Amino acid sequence: METRAIRGFNDILPDQVKRWQHIEERARTIFEIHGYSEIRTPVVEFTDIFARSIGTTTDIVEKEMYTFTDRDGSSITLRPEGTAGVVRSFIEHNMYAKSPISKLYYMGMMFRHERPQKGRYRGFYQIGAELFGPKEPLADAEIIIMLWRYFEAIGISPFLRPEISSLGDENCRPLFKRELVKFFKPKRNELCEDCQKRLEQNPLRIFDCKKERCKEIAEKAPSILDNLCDECKEHFDLVKESLEKIGTPFVLNPRIVRGLDYYTRTVFEVTTEELGAQNAVGAGGRYDALVEELGGPPTPAVGFALGMERMLLLHEKMFPDGFKKEADAFIAHIGSEARNRAFLLAYELRKNGAFIDLDYEDKSLKSQLKRADKLGVKYTIIIGEEELRRGVLKVRDMRKSLEEEMSLEDVKKLAIKLKI
Ligand SMILES: [Zn+2]
Ligand SMILES: [Zn+2]
Repeated sequence: METRAIRGFNDILPDQVKRWQHIEERARTIFEIHGYSEIRTPVVEFTDIFARSIGTTTDIVEKEMYTFTDRDGSSITLRPEGTAGVVRSFIEHNMYAKSPISKLYYMGMMFRHERPQKGRYRGFYQIGAELFGPKEPLADAEIIIMLWRYFEAIGISPFLRPEISSLGDENCRPLFKRELVKFFKPKRNELCEDCQKRLEQNPLRIFDCKKERCKEIAEKAPSILDNLCDECKEHFDLVKESLEKIGTPFVLNPRIVRGLDYYTRTVFEVTTEELGAQNAVGAGGRYDALVEELGGPPTPAVGFALGMERMLLLHEKMFPDGFKKEADAFIAHIGSEARNRAFLLAYELRKNGAFIDLDYEDKSLKSQLKRADKLGVKYTIIIGEEELRRGVLKVRDMRKSLEEEMSLEDVKKLAIKLKI
């Protein structure tokens, strides 16, 4: 039997994890200063939660979900995205009754049965934020501003293009859909099979089609931004104004549809040209009807989700050498008595915040120095029988190849001063 991970699922190995932690830590810091708290929901929910929120006619629900029958016969699904579970939890725990505004963020693994490719896995990680309560355009603006702050903080904003649009609401969107049907109907036979189906079910999603011919036809279709009702137009104008005031960049893209059915009014997408075809790094928008749809009281909401793997690829591009935390010092020893001393010293220096490594068996000094070299440490502290007797330590500066004798106290001072 072959020992391997399931296709589309991969390990994140220790030498990559530093970078992951960095991206996650920055998210926590930035989101928390904007008033968000972390929520952790289960990776599995009743299938119905996703079908009702994401929409039964979307690709995710039709083709990509990991759905199982549980032992009691109920249908359960590994979460393909984070919002539905957060909304379910928001309702189940009556968060709406405790505070008029809830700000939540999450990070974790999601699951979709897609064709695995670079930067896209079946088990993948997302970071997301959801803001429940306010219907005002300032809320939309604030979450976009926070998102952009985050991209700046992790250093990948130069690679990114923030696009925004409005999808209208229950007043103007149906009218716009009718406009679209009117536009596409005469060209029906030129559309691909999927788009012909979309024309019946949700003509907006024709804008999602990747086929050249469909894209060509869709180019001349009417724009949603010219078809917003007065309230939606005012809302969108205020979002744009607020972004401009803060200096958060954006471009208008009236073709943003979003693969999920639950969005209303503001939608946004952050794309990159650095990663080939799969170019969305994150996306989000307002979803004022979803909480009610899932059984809660009418609650406006806005949120976003980001693909960790794609952010990581961009981060690697920006900082190819960064984030491999190396040991500050290695403690080499000669003889078993020195080994015990080395063990105690490592403990003491770690207490002072130094990153220390050492060997546990009695290897030759040569082989220990070789390992220290490989670890890339700045200093190697050598404890031999001779040094032990005289109560000193030999400290070797690995970059300068200089050796110096120090007392234990001096080594501790050095550790504190340099964090070694
Ligand atoms: Zn098509
Ligand atoms: Zn409207």
